[in-house]
Amino acid sequence: MNIHEYQGKEVLRKYGVTVPEGKVAFTADEAVEAAESLSGPVYVVKAQIHAGGRGKAGGVKIAKSTDEVKAYAEELLGKTLVTHQTGPDGREIKRLLIEEGCDIKKEYYVGLVLDRATSRIVLMASEEGGTEIEEVAEKTPEKIVKEVIDPAVGLQSYQARKIAFAINIPKELVNQAAKFMMGLYTAFVEKDCSIAEINPLVVTGDGKVMALDAKLNFDSNALYRQKDILEYRDLDEEDPKEIEASKYDLSYISLDGNIGCMVNGAGLAMSTMDIIKHYGGEPANFLDVGGGATAEKVTEAFKIILSDQNVKGIFVNIFGGIMKCDVIAEGVVEATKQVGLTLPLVVRLEGTNVDLGKKILDESGLNITSAESMADGAQKIVSLVK
Ligand code: ADP
Ligand code: MG
Repeated sequence: MNIHEYQGKEVLRKYGVTVPEGKVAFTADEAVEAAESLSGPVYVVKAQIHAGGRGKAGGVKIAKSTDEVKAYAEELLGKTLVTHQTGPDGREIKRLLIEEGCDIKKEYYVGLVLDRATSRIVLMASEEGGTEIEEVAEKTPEKIVKEVIDPAVGLQSYQARKIAFAINIPKELVNQAAKFMMGLYTAFVEKDCSIAEINPLVVTGDGKVMALDAKLNFDSNALYRQKDILEYRDLDEEDPKEIEASKYDLSYISLDGNIGCMVNGAGLAMSTMDIIKHYGGEPANFLDVGGGATAEKVTEAFKIILSDQNVKGIFVNIFGGIMKCDVIAEGVVEATKQVGLTLPLVVRLEGTNVDLGKKILDESGLNITSAESMADGAQKIVSLVK
């Protein structure tokens, strides 16, 4: 789960990570009020959306008076910001962070990620801050330094100092930078983060080490024990289809293609997507209805797939192990009746009660193409949507 920059800074502040003073604002008046409570005379008006690249896209404005804060707030609120991370549709700006302007001497990059290859948290840093770290990694990988953290002892201060020296933090600020990294690491571990990225970390004119940006991402599987983080969830930033799916405990991820998939089991869902692509189609989603799905759950899954305007056909591929084929069939029939299906539908059932399942579908009077195998089903749906 992602949170906004201002929320990330709120979390980091509790761990002793220095961040600029700032306040969230939902209206232009609130923006002015926020600015008046800050010391000034320079303020930064920052669009709060769950995507980076805001600076380049015009979502970060420097204001030299509260009047300018008001003007920028009016300009940004309600506007759709398109950055290289939002996709072409962009995101509507609904919140702003009004922050004190900072006298930047130099920008750096510091990030913590979970490296799945080594199962360890890795501290990464670079003196090329402010720019896209992906670009630095591609063009000048030698400018990124890393320390792998042993989970038994955590980040050691010698490691943090080593990184600070390696990215050329001024000597007199190395200890401050190390303390910054230690705080960031503690926040990462205690709050079950999967990413904590500070880009840029800055050294200021008056000798402070500060986080000017904060991107925190949390492991969704740990949110049950991070109630305060869960409160930060902003549903406006999430795909409504994914929100709906999570209410029914469905694993759903929306994709760009036009073939809706309803499958049980993550492995089968993956291979279903692969085989659709193999035959020249594009899946519109990943959807695992789970092992113990009820007819109600299947109905909801169907509705979610159909609410995607890009979907031109549906491929149901179910292996009835724990889940029975007749339950799936009932769900499919119920859902198509409720939503009035007009799109091509290919169903491949295999496993427990398969004959009963097929009978239910055949007798439903619905226009369903049945498939004998995965390959057969994939070929059929690909040709039907063409
Ligand atoms: P994004 O990564 O989405 O572009 P950032 O928060 O990193 O957004 O801001 C982009 C740039 O704007 C920063 O690299 C920095 O140069 C400038 N900036 C951001 N916040 C401040 C601030 N409080 N004071 C001065 N400059 C800032
Ligand atoms: Mg940034």
